Amino acid sequence: MIPVTCFRAQRVALFGLGGSGLATARALKAGGADVICWDDHQAARDKASAEGLSVADLTQQDFAQYQALILAPGVPLTHPEPHWTVKRAQAAGIEIIGDIELFCRERAILAPDAPFIAITGTNGKSTTTALIAHLMRVARFDVQMGGNIGTAILSLEPPVAGRVHVIECSSYQIDLAPSLAPSAGILLNVTPDHLDRHGTMENYAAVKERLVAKAERPIIGVDDDWCRAIAQRLMAAGRSPVEVSVERVLPHGLSYENGFILRNGVKSFDLNGIGSLRGAHNGQNAAAAIAAVQSLGVDDATVSRGLKSFPGLAHRMEQIGHVGSVLFINDSKATNADAAEKALLSFERDIFWICGGVPKEGGIAPLAPLFGRVTEAFLIGQASADFADTLGPIPHRLCGDLDHAVQAALAAASASDATHPVVLLSPACASFDQYRNFELRGAHFRALVEQLPGFTPMAEV
Ligand code: ADP
Repeated sequence: MIPVTCFRAQRVALFGLGGSGLATARALKAGGADVICWDDHQAARDKASAEGLSVADLTQQDFAQYQALILAPGVPLTHPEPHWTVKRAQAAGIEIIGDIELFCRERAILAPDAPFIAITGTNGKSTTTALIAHLMRVARFDVQMGGNIGTAILSLEPPVAGRVHVIECSSYQIDLAPSLAPSAGILLNVTPDHLDRHGTMENYAAVKERLVAKAERPIIGVDDDWCRAIAQRLMAAGRSPVEVSVERVLPHGLSYENGFILRNGVKSFDLNGIGSLRGAHNGQNAAAAIAAVQSLGVDDATVSRGLKSFPGLAHRMEQIGHVGSVLFINDSKATNADAAEKALLSFERDIFWICGGVPKEGGIAPLAPLFGRVTEAFLIGQASADFADTLGPIPHRLCGDLDHAVQAALAAASASDATHPVVLLSPACASFDQYRNFELRGAHFRALVEQLPGFTPMAEV
């Protein structure tokens, strides 16, 4: 845990007692603050009380008695409208901040030069964060990884010289972190998302911009208009962001072409054959990760070694293993057509595609240009009938559930004359008709595959 000492002997209010809220309350208490917590849900309040945190009804209180309002990132700061705690804090003139801000303040006290890599973007945050942490471990750094991925930031070990914090930041967390100034800050991409919470694209992009604006080494994916404008603004302000593109070769910066990462136009790293980093989107993630770790002095040979041994993240194009020549891939995280598109783009042909669940608006119609890569589709869940219509002449079967789909897909893939057939679970759907979440859907897929006769797991690289 990182005890938060900057509010020692002061009173602060904390709203939102989910995982990161609880961790924040503990860290503030451990650092000597008098922290008063509240949440709309009785169960969350009970949990906090049970471990000795002070819980009091903030609706009944004068916020002027508090030094700050500490807000969980899930609580609306601005849109669709400010939460009542936000309005009360603003009326009382106290600051409103979150756990990343508290981390930044403690780092400034404990070890201002300790390396701190922060990652944001609409897509690819978790992959890039995990890849950076992996590369830094391969380079024998003491690595703490967390934030929006996995462990809450204040539950990590404290900053000390030589220890690197690799932190995934959502836009909500950035919005609550005014002094965020990482050693390396990555902004991968900005596409429409979370507009319910940010109002407009302008606001959403402006929040994301803050992560790179004060970074010592800003790293920006410049393949969308929003990020290109952000990079240009930084340059106009005399900064030198490292630019990353997977759409064109940049004379200065990092690019991706045909499976290679080019540095200043020169082929420098080879991603071909690295199953955990398939596809141009992972070229963007890898290039940004390389820029970040090299800004901390990691050499080319170590980067190349680390890229090859990156295991990837569970449920995101995760390679489970083979039965004979059939490769099984778990991309359960692909809960919409956009994500499934990335998966289909990763293989040129011979895809035995398991999809379905609770469909999103538009279903899989946007994927039609990629249907030629699919040998057969195996449909599960609520979406089956609709998806069957959309697939039209593409061979498909209604399988009902994953158990049947895995069996049918294996049989079809084994019987095909493809040299490298792939059974790909990339549902393009939410999982809620048959599972509590996409993690459980992916875990079930893995269990089914691991039980197949002749299954061999992926070899460690
Ligand atoms: P996030 O943490 O931002 O949600 P993840 O790394 O978990 O992103 O990836 C989630 C999905 O988003 C992946 O399965 C892939 O389909 C897609 N994706 C990953 N990286 C990128 C990227 N750089 N650009 C666009 N889409 C991406």
